[in-house]
Amino acid sequence: MKAEILCVGTELLLGDIVNTNAAYIAKELANIGIDVYYQSVIGDNDNRLKEGLALAFSRADIVVMTGGLGPTYDDLTKETVAEYFHRNMKLDAASLESIEGFFKRLGRPMTENNKKQAMMPEGATIFPNANGTAPGLAVSENGKTAILLPGPPAEMQPMFQSAVLPYLMGFSDKVLVSHNVRIFGMGESRVEEVLHELMKNSTNPTIAPYAKMGEVTLRITAAADTKEACEKLIGPAIEKIKKAIGKYIYGIDVPDLQTAAVEKLLEHNVTIATAESCTGGLISERITQIPGASRIFGCGVCSYANEIKHRVLGVSEETLQKYGAVSEQTAREMASGIRRLAGSDIGVSTTGIAGPGGGTKEKPVGLVYVGIDSDDLTTVLKLNINYHKADERNYIRHMTAQNVFR
Ligand code: ATP
Ligand code: MG
Repeated sequence: MKAEILCVGTELLLGDIVNTNAAYIAKELANIGIDVYYQSVIGDNDNRLKEGLALAFSRADIVVMTGGLGPTYDDLTKETVAEYFHRNMKLDAASLESIEGFFKRLGRPMTENNKKQAMMPEGATIFPNANGTAPGLAVSENGKTAILLPGPPAEMQPMFQSAVLPYLMGFSDKVLVSHNVRIFGMGESRVEEVLHELMKNSTNPTIAPYAKMGEVTLRITAAADTKEACEKLIGPAIEKIKKAIGKYIYGIDVPDLQTAAVEKLLEHNVTIATAESCTGGLISERITQIPGASRIFGCGVCSYANEIKHRVLGVSEETLQKYGAVSEQTAREMASGIRRLAGSDIGVSTTGIAGPGGGTKEKPVGLVYVGIDSDDLTTVLKLNINYHKADERNYIRHMTAQNVFR
């Protein structure tokens, strides 16, 4: 099956917003084996929209559209699609009720033009919108299917997962199963390089990489007659990936690094305490996000000032003077100091230069020391986190925390 993505909105053409919807939908369609040959963007103009839709259907079986489902006069997508399929627009009672419910929950009055969002082409399949007012919909006839989704990603993405994927799977009699292999410590391009052969030759299961904030996720998806048959297809692929990059995999189907780390500590009944400088409490915040963390986490000290590093954690004045706060020695003494203070099995510490200012030639922005103190292992990791971006400071803090959980 061939699909085409058509995003509607003048703000996309003007470059005011980035077309993340097209990227999202393209990846999701690729994952279930639907080929996307074209993507396009059209402004809020009914003639060009009509032309664009006809052109898309001249090349594709499925046209997925986003945007222009709102209540205003320039939201024209539904009407254009209804016209293409020669359908009348009709009030959909269930949609109207759910839009009324949405406004009631917000405690706001519903305007007359919001009713427009409940007008649907006759015979359309409706996708409820749990996060906004405009429902999505699909119209299908003679092998041509239009899928219409709201513009805001926070509405579109959950709708895609809960309603559009099952709808698309309805075109085949297959079951779909996905697993997520979570990777840290290896960039996306390196992952692709190492797994190139495997990824290139994978059609069932498909292997799709996603990169975000210094992490890579490989989503492995199989389609088969039963769930068990899917698992049988996925199993060997995961084994091959483990064999190639196993030491960078921190979990399968786990939500994030901190969950994987805390679960491991819980499993082995190992307690931890944190002494944080450049991360300012980020690590203890992430640990305590996870239910049950109280069994393994006793305390965290946010020792931003040198005086606190010395007075509370026992870092010697000599160390601070001779090597400075951002140093291997300080990280080591902070880690052993917090371990002593908390009486925990492990003490971890962070000290570094988060930027944007404050870097020197010897100690540039992004230089971070992570101290670890325990019976089995006492060490200091030196990190050079380079990332030239506006949110450099947050990124450095984030990556420091990630390295601790690793
Ligand atoms: P609304 O009810 O909010 O009017 P809509 O379905 O009519 O929703 P649009 O008006 O086209 O959608 O877009 C609403 C907002 O959704 C945009 O201002 C933008 O922030 C976001 N958005 C729209 N299209 C995209 C896209 N392709 N990629 C990312 N964000 C988008
Ligand atoms: Mg709109």
